[in-house]
Amino acid sequence: MAIKTANEYRERVAKLRPKLFIGGKKVEILTDHPVTKGVIEATARVYELTTDPQYFDIMTAKSHLTGEMISRALHIHQSNQDLQKRLDMARLSSQKLGTCNYRCPGNEMLPSLAATTWEIDQDKGTEYHQRFNEYLKYAQENDLVVSGSVTDTKGDRSKRPLEQDPDSYVHVVEKRADGIVVNGAKQHATGAYAADETLVLPGISCRKGEEDYAIAFVVPNGTEGMIYVAQYNPFSVERECAEDIRHIGNPIYGQRETCLVIFDHVFIPWERVFMCGEVEYTQRFITRFAKTHRMNCGGACKVGFMDLIIGATQLIAEYNGLQKVSHIAQKITRMIQLNETSLACAIAAAHLGNEEPEGSGVFMPDEAMSNIAKLNTNDGFWEVLALAGDIAGGVAVTLPSERELENPEIKEYVAKYLKSAAPADKRMRIMKFLQNWVAGLHGVGTYQGSGPSQNQMMVLYRITNLEEKKKMAQELANV
Ligand SMILES: Cc1cc2nc3c(=O)[nH]c(=O)nc-3n(C[C@H](O)[C@H](O)[C@H](O)COP(=O)(O)OP(=O)(O)OC[C@H]3O[C@@H](n4cnc5c(N)ncnc54)[C@H](O)[C@@H]3O)c2cc1C
Repeated sequence: MAIKTANEYRERVAKLRPKLFIGGKKVEILTDHPVTKGVIEATARVYELTTDPQYFDIMTAKSHLTGEMISRALHIHQSNQDLQKRLDMARLSSQKLGTCNYRCPGNEMLPSLAATTWEIDQDKGTEYHQRFNEYLKYAQENDLVVSGSVTDTKGDRSKRPLEQDPDSYVHVVEKRADGIVVNGAKQHATGAYAADETLVLPGISCRKGEEDYAIAFVVPNGTEGMIYVAQYNPFSVERECAEDIRHIGNPIYGQRETCLVIFDHVFIPWERVFMCGEVEYTQRFITRFAKTHRMNCGGACKVGFMDLIIGATQLIAEYNGLQKVSHIAQKITRMIQLNETSLACAIAAAHLGNEEPEGSGVFMPDEAMSNIAKLNTNDGFWEVLALAGDIAGGVAVTLPSERELENPEIKEYVAKYLKSAAPADKRMRIMKFLQNWVAGLHGVGTYQGSGPSQNQMMVLYRITNLEEKKKMAQELANV
C-alpha cells in the first residue's frame, strides 16, 4: 500500500541518525528531544489525516505514474481540480496543526521538477525527466516525507556566487563517473532533519559561467557530509524546560521548526541529479516552484493559521465578556475579510492555472494570482496579528504561567485575578495559545517564508501587460 500510517512514519524516523545540533548540543535520538518531537508529531498528524476516511478526497490522489492512490503530498497536479485540492490540503493541515505540516516545501518543488525536467529533455535530449519519474515512483511507493531546500545562505547579497566565498551557494565541486559532489548550505529548511529526503533546487537564476550552481538533486536524510543546525529561540527553551507541555502555546506541534543544512562534500549519484549545468532553466525551476508555493503556503496554509487566530480571538472576546461590543465585532470582521481575500486569490490561482509547459501534463497555478495571494497574506497576516493583540489585551504578553494555578501558595490569587467572564484556567490556556501567534515566530515566518513582498512585487510588475493598460487609457482619452 503506497499510503503509510502515522506509526509507520514514526518507526522510520526513530531510525534516522542525522548529524543535528540544537542550542549548542548534539541531538542523538530525534524522537527523544522536546523540539524535534514536535516536528515528528506534526508530520505524523499529517499521515493520520491522510488515512482518515473523512479527509481522503483532500489528502490523497491517484498517481499519474502508477495509478495507485498516494498521499497528495507526493502528487503532481494533473488538472485545475488537483490544484484546488492541493490548497484545500494546505488549509486543512494548518487548521489541524497550527504549525507547518512539514511535507509542503518538498511537495511544491515536485511539480516544478516534473515540468522543467520534461522541458530540458525535450530541448536537449537529456534523461532528467526519466530519472525524476523513477525517483518520484520510489517516493510515492514508500510515502516518503520530502523536505525542500531552495534558499542558499547567499553571504553578501550584493555579490554573485563567483564574486565571494563560493560556498555561499550550493554548487558542484567535483563531477565523477557515478555522480557529483556538492558543497554549500541551504538555510531555513523546514523540518529537514525529520524528513526522509531533502530536495535541492537552485536559489538563484544562474548565468553563463555559473554552471556549477545550476543543480537540482535529492538526498536522503543523514547522508555522509550533511550537517543540520536547528533554529533556537525562546520557544525552543520554553519547550526544553517545560515539565508539562500542556501549558505551552501549541502543546503538541509547537512553532515552525527549520534548520541550516550544510553540505560538506556530499556525494549525489547521477540517478538522483535532475539538472546539472543547464543555467538557462534555473529561472524556470524557481518561478514554477515559487508560484506553486505562493498559492499553497502563502495563500491557503496561512489562511488555515488565520482561521485559528480568528477563532482564538473570538473566544477571548467572549471570555472577556465583550462579544457584543461593536468595535470588537468590526475588528473580527476585518480579520475575516483579510483571511478570505488571501483564500480568494489562492482559489483563483488554482482555477486560472494551466498545463505548463504544454504537453508536459503538469498543471501550474496562475502566476499573478498566486503572487497576489502571498502578497495579500504578507500584509494581512501582520494586521490579523495586530488585531488579535488589540482584542486580547496586554495579558497576551504579560500572562503568568498556568502552572501557578497548581501552586498552593498562590493558586487562589491567580484564579481570582486572572478570571474574567470565564474561569482563569480557560482564559489562560487560550491566551497562551494566542501568545504563540501574536508574540511568536509566525509573523516574520509568514512574511519571509516563500519570499518577502519585494519578490512578489517584482514578479507582478514583470508579468503585467502595462502596454495593454496604457493603450486602454490612450484610447479613451483620445491621445
Ligand atoms: C519560517 C520560515 C520557513 C522557511 N522554509 C523554507 C524552506 O523550507 N525551504 C527553503 O528553501 N526556504 C525556506 N524559507 C526561506 C525563505 O524563502 C527566505 O527566508 C526568503 O526567501 C528570504 O530570504 P532570506 O531569509 O535569505 O532573506 P534575505 O535574502 O537576506 O532578505 C532580507 C531583505 O533583503 C532584501 N534583499 C535581499 N537580497 C537583496 C538584493 N540582492 N537586492 C535588494 N534587496 C535584497 C529582501 O527583499 C528582504 O527584504 C523559510 C523562511 C522562513 C522564515
